[in-house]
Amino acid sequence: MSDRHTGDAAALLRRHRAVLPEWLALYYDEPLEITHGEGRHVWDAEGNRYLDFFGGILTTMTAHALPEVTKAVSEQAGRILHTSSLYLSRPMVELAERVAALSGIPDARVFFTTSGTEANDTALLLATAYRRSNQILALRNSYHGRSFSAIGITGNRSWSPTTLSPLQTLYVHGGVRTRGPYAALDDAEFTEACTADLVDMLGQTGGDVAALIAEPVQGVGGFTSPPDGLLAAFREVLLEHGILWISDEVQTGWGRTGEHFWGWQAHDQAGPPDMLTFAKGIGNGMSIGGVVARAEVMDCLPANSISTFGGSPITMAAGNANLNYLLEHDLQGNARRVGGLLLERLRAASAGLGVVREVRGRGLMAGVELADPHTGDPSPKAASLVLEAARERGLLIGKGGGHATSSVLRIAPPLSLTVAEAEEGAEILEQSLRSADNELGGESAQ
Ligand code: PMP
Repeated sequence: MSDRHTGDAAALLRRHRAVLPEWLALYYDEPLEITHGEGRHVWDAEGNRYLDFFGGILTTMTAHALPEVTKAVSEQAGRILHTSSLYLSRPMVELAERVAALSGIPDARVFFTTSGTEANDTALLLATAYRRSNQILALRNSYHGRSFSAIGITGNRSWSPTTLSPLQTLYVHGGVRTRGPYAALDDAEFTEACTADLVDMLGQTGGDVAALIAEPVQGVGGFTSPPDGLLAAFREVLLEHGILWISDEVQTGWGRTGEHFWGWQAHDQAGPPDMLTFAKGIGNGMSIGGVVARAEVMDCLPANSISTFGGSPITMAAGNANLNYLLEHDLQGNARRVGGLLLERLRAASAGLGVVREVRGRGLMAGVELADPHTGDPSPKAASLVLEAARERGLLIGKGGGHATSSVLRIAPPLSLTVAEAEEGAEILEQSLRSADNELGGESAQ
């Protein structure tokens, strides 16, 4: 153990391991204790500063310690923290109106929850009640949360420890393209093959399915997107049976993909989904999740259903202030511009490195798929090496793909990332990729 873990951090880690679940995964050989942040940077307990290329996906959509959000939250905290959604709440109505208008869903209603999991649970509750069916279509390699029902529809088995869900889930192709039988197909062939797979699956059910849920870009699964238009092709098939389409926008919402405000818009010919779910970033650190649905779907529940903390004034104050900042500073445009530059830099940095199999992404959502330079197999070891090397150089990134088998680097900085920070992060990533390539005996080692 290095110095970093001989003091308080080591003791804290021991206490963490003694009392928290083993399955609560920690990043890094020597886990980090982050104590504060500002803009696109965070600091650990030893005072080391890191450029944060992952927090954007975790919770910090716009920037760490954004003064506008801090002010709104502290003003609200000084008045009242929370009462109940049984009373009228101005901040909740205000945020709901804005989210409904932005959603693109006609006649939209919004229900606020406290997490993405709970948002997806609510969408499933609505879909199954509306359609009177407990069958759900989901994509292979998907991730939708950690509750009983969200786990039941999650296709990425390394993140879904039980299959005892009362939902009947049918997994179709359409997510990951770099592995498996569809790897060699081009966009049009892939779309055709996946649509045929969907039709085949529906043939087995006679169309008795409540909804298809899909992430427009699979997040935990390793930032992999279906070809634009694939979900439109799916939608055509779903409409024949009256099956609902739920777009899980927990990672792709609010302009992160640059070209679009929502991920579903890359499949624009399909029109808006029947429901979309959101969470994570909109509260910029405060826990907000929610569902937007057509009124007819939202209001199909036969009884009242409230969430104690969903829509609490303090989280809504954060959401409203954060959304103001996002729109006023055109952070979607920033994601497009700075994200485009970052992707370009990552592609250039990876050229000739055997350890990199693919650089992909949209906006400020970049994935770098790593492979063993000799065998070409997915390499979780390479991902760990790059993560550790980047951390040593002052950069935090994430990984995805599978839990123990993550071989994709996930890069998702706060949406306010500057060009200089993108350059700095790309430089560190280049060095870190080279050092992993060297260690694994890739060409840069010669
Ligand atoms: N859906 C997607 C696409 C996600 O990435 C996540 C979280 N990683 C969730 C749902 C669950 O969100 P939460 O962790 O807030 O419950």
